[in-house]
Amino acid sequence: CKMDKDEKIGSTCEITFQEINEMNKKIRPDVISLVATDFFKYFKLNLYKQCPFWEDNNAQCLHRACAVDVVEDWDSLPEYWQPDALGSFSNDSIEEDSTKDDECKFLDQLCAGSGKTTSSLDNKLEDESNVDYCDTADFANRDSVLVDLSANPERFTGYGGKQAGQVWQSIYQDNCFTVNEASASLAKDVFYRLVSGLHASIGTHLSNEYLNTETGKWEPNLDLFMARVGNFPERVSNIYFNYAIISKALWKIQPYLKNLEFCNSYDESVKTKIIDIISQFDSRIFNEDLVFEDDLSLLLKDEFRQRFKNVTEIMDCVHCDRCRLWGKVQTTGYATSLKILFELDDADEETKQNVVDKLTKYELIALFNTLDRLSKSIDSINNFERLYNERLSDN
Ligand code: FAD
Repeated sequence: CKMDKDEKIGSTCEITFQEINEMNKKIRPDVISLVATDFFKYFKLNLYKQCPFWEDNNAQCLHRACAVDVVEDWDSLPEYWQPDALGSFSNDSIEEDSTKDDECKFLDQLCAGSGKTTSSLDNKLEDESNVDYCDTADFANRDSVLVDLSANPERFTGYGGKQAGQVWQSIYQDNCFTVNEASASLAKDVFYRLVSGLHASIGTHLSNEYLNTETGKWEPNLDLFMARVGNFPERVSNIYFNYAIISKALWKIQPYLKNLEFCNSYDESVKTKIIDIISQFDSRIFNEDLVFEDDLSLLLKDEFRQRFKNVTEIMDCVHCDRCRLWGKVQTTGYATSLKILFELDDADEETKQNVVDKLTKYELIALFNTLDRLSKSIDSINNFERLYNERLSDN
């Protein structure tokens, strides 16, 4: 990637690519072990929700007919490598939600009788909030299932073609704000970078864990990475931008974490890991105050929130289950960080504490797993750069 690592990542960020690389090296081991804990590895997903935006009964689109063209000849490959198999969940990683009547029961079982788990979900679900950037009602839906994220890593699935293209196109279209162009330009820029950074991060993971159909191994594919991400410095930069958004949101909630419990009696180290991670972040990483600063801000912010909510709902139009799972996790993670960044500011201390106390278990799970996705993307980008330089010096 032809980019200057000592450059700042954007007008809203007072920090360089290199500084983020260094920060990421420090937190990576803790992030890996945090998302592997029982509290953070289950996400709740409604698999039966219809796509709310267009007629969507083309079941074929899970199949090889709509798959990506990076695999030359799908037909010659065995069934277990077909996109419908790669994009599905691994056996036994889904549990019917046995906690329908008591949201905390599932974690209570994990906590081996620890009484209290995370504090807030019950209150939250009754609370009609207008500060959400995603639809948190899904987490209470009776059709939702619990999926073990660690058993379903985000990687190459073969999902692609027109169906995936349509999803990406409609996500980018959500960046067409009706509010006056000039004052909306920074907000539009943030929106675009968020979506493009998500897209690039997914592209990085699918290239980093790519199925080599000759050897049957999952391995990095440098050519694919360059074609999707590496040849576009702007896309790489948007991954770093998203890292800045998520880490600033985490930095901001640090003083208000005291009431949140993460199954502590089951695994005491969870909260310590969180604090260790956040203590590496720097408030200069993103300046959210610049985004909505003039008279139109309230209107613009409402529109921004509604449009980002659409993005989280468009995930229900993704046909590949595994892609949809990670799409939901990450859009929920971004939605949660936007809520923290843009809704925590004007409030007094008590209100701030209240917003943090009311974060649901699944918003927290999404937030930290999205940090992990970005942290892994940055790790992979540095690895791809090394592979690229090795290739250059071999030639
Ligand atoms: P696409 O990635 O579909 O992109 C369409 C167009 O968008 C490109 O032609 C380009 O002009 C533009 N574009 C591409 N990247 C960017 C960017 N970063 N910023 C701005 N513009 C860009 N596939 C997997 O193998 N594993 C997954 O886990 C997975 N998860 C997905 C999750 C979601 C929500 C979606 C919608 C798709 C997912 N896919 C996944 C599919 C994957 O993202 C691609 O759509 C697919 O690999 C086909 O890629 P493509 O090269 O045809 O272009």
